[in-house]
Amino acid sequence: MSSEKDFSDTIYGLSKKRGFFWGPSPEIYGGSAGFFDLGPLGKLLKNRLESRIRSEFVRAGFWEVECPTVSPEIVWKASGHLDGFIDPVTQCTKCGQVFRADNLIKELAPEAKVDGLSPKELTEKIEELGIECPSCKSPLGSVEPYNLMMKTRLGLAQDAYLRPETATSTYLLFRRFLTFFRGKLPASVFQIGKAYRNEISPRQGVLRLREFTQVEGQIFLLEQDEIDWPSFENIEKEVLPLLPYQPQEADKSDVTLTKMSDALKKGFFQKPAYAWCVYVAYKIFREMGFSDEVMRLRQHLPTERAHYAADAWDVEIYTKSFGWVECCGIHDRGNYDLSRHQEFSKENLSVKVDKKPVVPNVLEIAFGVERPLFCLIDNSYVEDEERVWLRFAAEIAPIQVAVFPLMGKDELVGPAKILFESIMNAGFVAQYDQGGSIGRRYRRQDEVGTPYCVTIDYETLEDGSVTLRDRDSMLQTRVHKDDLPGILEALISGKSRFESLEK
Ligand SMILES: [Zn+2]
Repeated sequence: MSSEKDFSDTIYGLSKKRGFFWGPSPEIYGGSAGFFDLGPLGKLLKNRLESRIRSEFVRAGFWEVECPTVSPEIVWKASGHLDGFIDPVTQCTKCGQVFRADNLIKELAPEAKVDGLSPKELTEKIEELGIECPSCKSPLGSVEPYNLMMKTRLGLAQDAYLRPETATSTYLLFRRFLTFFRGKLPASVFQIGKAYRNEISPRQGVLRLREFTQVEGQIFLLEQDEIDWPSFENIEKEVLPLLPYQPQEADKSDVTLTKMSDALKKGFFQKPAYAWCVYVAYKIFREMGFSDEVMRLRQHLPTERAHYAADAWDVEIYTKSFGWVECCGIHDRGNYDLSRHQEFSKENLSVKVDKKPVVPNVLEIAFGVERPLFCLIDNSYVEDEERVWLRFAAEIAPIQVAVFPLMGKDELVGPAKILFESIMNAGFVAQYDQGGSIGRRYRRQDEVGTPYCVTIDYETLEDGSVTLRDRDSMLQTRVHKDDLPGILEALISGKSRFESLEK
């Protein structure tokens, strides 16, 4: 356990030192838990992840939208968040500390059953078990529901809330989608944007944030579509690391690599459309740089599911910091959302099926970007006697190429800057650095995961050759500078390997 803690300290230490993330923010005022700033490299990395997410959704037939992050109270009344998006809390009667009641009971009395208990029942449980304030041993107050939404105001007096998820803002557009998609279902849209959750006492750094970037893909479809889903044919031979009906404590060895067609036959999935969504989520995480080695798709036990959910699977990523981390949920939301918004807005959100009005169902893929960002840094970290480096896939790395003059002499600096420009113009994210010894410059690039470094020296002035250095093997080879864009393109896209450049 202590070594796990040490490892997350290592990751946070490196992330702060090298400008991936800083916080809690605002640091100079002591920081508020649950808020982090992305430094320049964190932002570059996040942009890369988001661009991969976008292209994967687009490839799967989804269209992107962007909605406001603030909505008036009625929206959240309709969505169920005003009444249902709550944590049960209790406050110490003496020192005033606030605790999440269910978590506190689980921590202090692991055998107690608390899932699904009302605030009143939790209050009774605390009395029955004799639980007191862990800090000052005084009695705890009665358990109260605490809403996790952040409240704000429109104009002088209209109550409004910052969205706790992007999904609701997407659903409000359903009538517009019907026009845009010319009345045809299924219709698929996605949104990437900020969401806010006023967690009582967020821990685990960037894994539990009060403000985060959420990605949610939604498919609006009819019941029949969920069974007749032609796209399933394209993925039925794909093999996924599945973990059907297992608790979170399950072992990696419990994962079975299963062909999607077999998963359907074995009844792991009831509906091809839903199974396809699980595959799309898996593919997005593959594209973000996670291998099957560190990934598993876990089906919730019936006791873990929300009451309206027919099925629920998560994408989980293995980290050295925290073990398995839940990173993405795939939800079968039925027609709950559109029905509620139809009822509260009094707008018709149904379509005609056999001349009868039917409110469509929704399948959803939902995840935050900050968790995979952290997991990627955690997974990429390598340390040996000589150095620390981040083994990002070249296509994901925030900086792809670093360019150095061997020394800060004018005759080398000029050509190095020209080469740097030409590499930038060829479309790579590059960094120019002439500070310190060449060894130190290599180490700095290793620590931020830059896969390739190029050095200009006196030989370059004579024959145009430069030194190209590979991050993982630390091997170096000489290539002609005019060939660099082509060589880098092939290396970064994985079309060729560094070793094959060696003469
Ligand atoms: Zn206390």
